[in-house]
Amino acid sequence: MPWFRNLIHLPIATACKRSPSYKAVFPAASPPPPSLTQILLFSTQAASPTAAESGARRRTGGGVGQAGLGPTKGDEKPRVVVLGTGWAGCRLMKGIDTSIYDIVCVSPRNHMVFTPLLASTCVGTLEFRSVAEPIGRIQSAISREPNSYFFLANCSGIDFNNHVINCQTVTDGVETLDPWRFSIAYDKLVVAAGAKALTFGIKGVEEHAIFLREVHHAQEIRRKLLLNLMLSDVPGVSEEEKRRLLHCVVVGGGPTGVEFSGELSDFIKRDVHQRYAHVKDYIHVTLIEANEILSSFDDRLRTYATKQLTKSGVRLVRGVVKDVLAEKIILSDGTEVPYGLLVWSTGVGPSSFVESLNIPKVRGRIGIDEWLRAPSVEDVFAIGDCSGFLETTGKPVLPALAQVAERQGKYLATLLNRVGKAGGGKASAAKDINLGDQFVYRHLGSMATIGRYKALVDLRQSKEGKGVSIAGFTSWFIWRSAYLTRVISWRNRFYVAINWLTTFVFGRDISRI
Ligand SMILES: Cc1cc2nc3c(=O)[nH]c(=O)nc-3n(C[C@H](O)[C@H](O)[C@H](O)COP(=O)(O)OP(=O)(O)OC[C@H]3O[C@@H](n4cnc5c(N)ncnc54)[C@H](O)[C@@H]3O)c2cc1C
Repeated sequence: MPWFRNLIHLPIATACKRSPSYKAVFPAASPPPPSLTQILLFSTQAASPTAAESGARRRTGGGVGQAGLGPTKGDEKPRVVVLGTGWAGCRLMKGIDTSIYDIVCVSPRNHMVFTPLLASTCVGTLEFRSVAEPIGRIQSAISREPNSYFFLANCSGIDFNNHVINCQTVTDGVETLDPWRFSIAYDKLVVAAGAKALTFGIKGVEEHAIFLREVHHAQEIRRKLLLNLMLSDVPGVSEEEKRRLLHCVVVGGGPTGVEFSGELSDFIKRDVHQRYAHVKDYIHVTLIEANEILSSFDDRLRTYATKQLTKSGVRLVRGVVKDVLAEKIILSDGTEVPYGLLVWSTGVGPSSFVESLNIPKVRGRIGIDEWLRAPSVEDVFAIGDCSGFLETTGKPVLPALAQVAERQGKYLATLLNRVGKAGGGKASAAKDINLGDQFVYRHLGSMATIGRYKALVDLRQSKEGKGVSIAGFTSWFIWRSAYLTRVISWRNRFYVAINWLTTFVFGRDISRI
């Protein structure tokens, strides 16, 4: 039903249709997004450089295998290079006017993750594809326009003086493919490379714990949980080993840790009790937090959450993890906690890529001014979790939240479109152009689900402010409705609604695929 597919794609494709060259550029049957093979082919072709590319190559100092995209020529559209396909990068790309700019996106994943619903995929409440949106559906110009591309790669360095980034392909362990290095010249560069999970240097976390940031993490958690459930049922497994295998430990009592614990306890109460009745008395969830859980919420909501979590069987432990071993963690008071599944969610810090950039930082994040520029270098912007306002702006470093990243992406798309329309799209051409209003962030509130059809909703600007702050079933309904409307596309909205309905009627999917 192509007419139906077109109908539901409409909002996503709008930006491209605005392009005057829409008809000419989009063939009737559009090609699929570039594959890794195409990427490598592209790079190989580019290895026979044009004069401009030779220039770019010389400037980046690239050697053999350092092919790439040279600077844009006078008659070409300016090129915006975007690093990252998270909340910030995707919202930016969705808003870029592709009649003004070509977009080149570099990221180690070809989709955006709708992180607020990621915890639900770990136990089968939602399917993985329901929370992943392919980049080509967010900005279709990337798969269709001749000079716009998506490259499955990591940016490994930036030559700010020469407007060039260096990249390396991601081969996901495919042994026949060596990582390929290439470079891309930019007119405007937007760094939206996010952050990485904090481990505080605790030994063993990287090796034994699972983070919850990407779809592959959720897949790993689900497989491990189901494997442990099945192993614990095997004849001959000792009582002690059964208890260990079925002890799920979550470290970090922020919204992500609490939401995951709530989902897990729902899964145990409803699905494990019915379908793994032999082991139902052995499975437990422990949530370890060094301070208060949900410290961003006020006392009343925190107390409510603590009560509900305890009621649903989650053990709350106040403690500091000192060491993580293969089958147990050790707390700073010497307590040993055996586990079968360990999920680590203790906040985020700067990634090694951001750390490696030689520009001013604020708490490890790229320092930005009121217009989200990295002011010490030309034509470079930073948005989302990887950026923070410089002290000179007098603004606080904003929290690592999707609502911050998304609004920065939206703001920057408008700014770049304005600059492009005023003729400042090319490298070093925006010096005298008015950038318009500064970016202003207004917090819309926080929400967290705690399982058993309960959630917390706090729509106040701050813990002390006036406004709606409620907990319970109504909040849960608001939480679900809000996120259903925020899911990126109609396709995924449909998936999410159907998954919720299926889970409600038939229970969660417990097949270990
Ligand atoms: C489980 C979970 C639940 C959450 N729930 C909420 C919530 O309910 N509400 C809320 O407001 N926030 C929530 N957050 C926080 C929110 O997801 C982040 O603040 C948001 O994702 C930040 O967006 P970003 O674009 O800056 O970074 P990310 O979304 O992390 O994206 C970063 C992108 O950069 C790419 N990248 C990394 N290194 C490189 C490199 N070297 N070169 C190129 N690309 C690179 C990554 O692959 C990724 O595509 C949640 C986070 C998690 C993990």
